[in-house]
Amino acid sequence: MRIDLLSIFPDFFTTPLDEGIIRRARQARIIDIGIHNIRDYAEDRHQMTDDRPYGGGEGMVMKPEPLSACLRAVPRHGKRCRVILLSPRGVPFSQEQAQRYAGYGQLILICGRYEGVDERFTERFVDEECSIGDYVLSGGELAALVVTDAVCRLLPGALGCADSAERDSFSRSLLKHHQYTRPPVFEDMAVPADLLSGDHAAVARHRFVESVRLTLERRPDLLSGLSLSKDERKLLKENGLLCRIEQAVPARQAGHRA
Ligand code: SAM
Repeated sequence: MRIDLLSIFPDFFTTPLDEGIIRRARQARIIDIGIHNIRDYAEDRHQMTDDRPYGGGEGMVMKPEPLSACLRAVPRHGKRCRVILLSPRGVPFSQEQAQRYAGYGQLILICGRYEGVDERFTERFVDEECSIGDYVLSGGELAALVVTDAVCRLLPGALGCADSAERDSFSRSLLKHHQYTRPPVFEDMAVPADLLSGDHAAVARHRFVESVRLTLERRPDLLSGLSLSKDERKLLKENGLLCRIEQAVPARQAGHRA
């Protein structure tokens, strides 16, 4: 996959894209990342990329010409390309969105600054707007990094353990269970016995039950998307959790499979 980042602060990306999983994915050519300085496409001698808003008011607005010139200069890699503007007014980003984005061949992520981007650029060139949450950042760069990271870990081969993205929080409408490592007792706290048992089935059952328990406590809203097998329903019933799910999610809303 190819991701192109358009920004007036390209140096913002240098270190975050050169560490950990993204660095390894780039080295393994699983992901190819291009960084483009919008300012290089400004035509005036001061390389202005913003101007005062029509109608007055505070702040500045990003001009459409440097943005469109920069976007046009980005090489297209096949037809499955999506142009995304990072914006607090966009569709909230989620694991589901990350999965969808990971299915494209190329993402072009445009980072706004100031009060945002001239609407005519958005109307003509942008496929969708994406928000990483209900708060306002100073610029789209951090948001673009969030999207890039979440998408990168979903690409085949990007993670060391092939199936670990499938077991991440949200991938199955559940939060991930708690995790423990050595020592088996830390201060006065012991690792749950099931995890030390060496019995893979017991470990899987423990983790699933804890995952459901945690989701019930912290994010019951997620459970409406949860499908359960017969064995899972039985296990949750034994642990007193099935009725709690049914209370949290009305039956007609829940996707439970018997
Ligand atoms: N005046 C705008 C508003 O109230 O909607 C906010 C502009 S913000 C200071 C500048 C840029 O940061 C935006 O154009 C966008 O690219 C980025 N940005 C800010 N918050 C964001 C968020 N929650 N998600 C994605 N991008 C965001």
